[in-house]
Amino acid sequence: MSCSPKIQVDKAFQLLRKWVAELDYAPVIDLMAAGHDSPWKLLASTMLSARTKDAVTTKASKSLFSHADTPEKTAELSVEELSELIYPVGFYRTKAENLKKLAQAVVERFGGVVPETLEELTTLPGVGVKTASLVLIKAFDKYEICVDTHVHRISNMWGLVSTRTPEETRTELKKNLPKKYWKEINQELVTLGQTVCKPTKHECGKCPLKEICPAADF
Ligand code: SF4
Repeated sequence: MSCSPKIQVDKAFQLLRKWVAELDYAPVIDLMAAGHDSPWKLLASTMLSARTKDAVTTKASKSLFSHADTPEKTAELSVEELSELIYPVGFYRTKAENLKKLAQAVVERFGGVVPETLEELTTLPGVGVKTASLVLIKAFDKYEICVDTHVHRISNMWGLVSTRTPEETRTELKKNLPKKYWKEINQELVTLGQTVCKPTKHECGKCPLKEICPAADF
């Protein structure tokens, strides 16, 4: 179900942009995107990042890419070799298996080139809408909205959407949010959600949006 935005969207993004620019903090996804020069590296490192601390993901990605930085090279490695390279990311053995399947699929079905549509990306093993959206935005500069738990939660708190799942939130945000904010909402709300607006604790007094947020609680 959609609803009228309650927060002043332009004002919110103006405040968020300024706050994020001055903050010495970046979500791991943005660090990865900044350091990776190919869609494959972004796709692979996003897969490694699930339920893993930022520093561990960064180290594992570097270790992996120093040995195999393309889908072809990754597909040639055994699951054991991949496990050793990405250890100790969470669920490293399962992720090694998934990484190999993903690399094989990109090579066999797409000629080693990461596809540029959500429909194609989400046919790849282990690639959901969240990962696919992120790759489209960060690797291909496409207009998409990447909805994770923070974007889903805070968009609902702000009255931008009234939804139960991240997928519903993505659909509703595409109707309610001006397109110029699509690519950036993930970075800004993840930063907000990991610092002052955590799921378990809202530090509204420190929040750049405290004057305009409909959920502010002092
Ligand atoms: S004002 Fe409070 S509830 Fe609103 S976004 Fe900031 S921390 Fe979250």
